[in-house]
Amino acid sequence: MPAQSEVIAALDALWPPGRAEQWDAVGTVCGDPDAEVRRVLFAVDPVREVVDEAVELGADLLVTHHPLYLRGTTTVAASTFKGRVVHTLIKHDIGLHVAHTNADRADPGVSDALAGALDLRVTGPLVPDPDDPAGRRGLGRICELDEPETLAGFTARAAAALPATAQGIRVAGDPGRTVRTVAVCGGSGDSLFDDVRRAGVDVYLTADLRHHPASEAREQARARAAGADAAVPALVDAAHWATEWPWTEQAAAQLDEISDRHGWNLRTHVSRAVTDPWTAHAASDTRPADAPPTPITDIPGAPN
Ligand SMILES: [Zn+2]
Repeated sequence: MPAQSEVIAALDALWPPGRAEQWDAVGTVCGDPDAEVRRVLFAVDPVREVVDEAVELGADLLVTHHPLYLRGTTTVAASTFKGRVVHTLIKHDIGLHVAHTNADRADPGVSDALAGALDLRVTGPLVPDPDDPAGRRGLGRICELDEPETLAGFTARAAAALPATAQGIRVAGDPGRTVRTVAVCGGSGDSLFDDVRRAGVDVYLTADLRHHPASEAREQARARAAGADAAVPALVDAAHWATEWPWTEQAAAQLDEISDRHGWNLRTHVSRAVTDPWTAHAASDTRPADAPPTPITDIPGAPN
């Protein structure tokens, strides 16, 4: 049975903490380095539902992508939800370890897992890490489809491949346009629009796309392409949690392989709890904007 310090050393070799962004807070949040580890649970978010799952499972270590404390704290009182997480973990002898932007930039990293879930062939990073002579590490990935398909087909592929969320998939672009090349970035990707443009891909798949960056990226590309829509990258926006969840399966498989190699006999688990904060979605009325408004008496539940 490995000690927690041995397991964490193996995780740090996969995702070296020194490669995290300056603003990030990665590494071990709580845990005893001498404790024995039998079961490890992987999840995206260190939230109460996931911690309860770790307790129920009898996990000794919880590994999450998102940090519990990104900006530091002066209290772990159980009256705060983060403090409650810390108390529950310590009470049940469960360590918490975070691999965030260091896992994003790794090879394989979060965006490799996202590309793999959609069956895309990765050709390289979207923003290469200048310190990687092999040119494989970095943010986001540029990918190819084995066979070109329509944007509608690609959207259906994303909807089928990613775990179901209330948001589903949002798309900007002509559903009939051809898709051959794709940029993907797990998590919030609207800071990478310049790199997407430079990559010249047909589609950008990411999460958390906001109105202004998305609108401006589309309009600028359209102006440069003199209105030719095929030259404007289509945008496919999935739920943040859904774009990062495939990494938990990839990470568990990586630790399984290390465990086999060392004869550790670890049991790894992947949380399937949907911790995306959005819980419902109503499709809009798709009638044209200039159609007369629906009389309020026709809306179910409306006062008459
Ligand atoms: Zn994220």
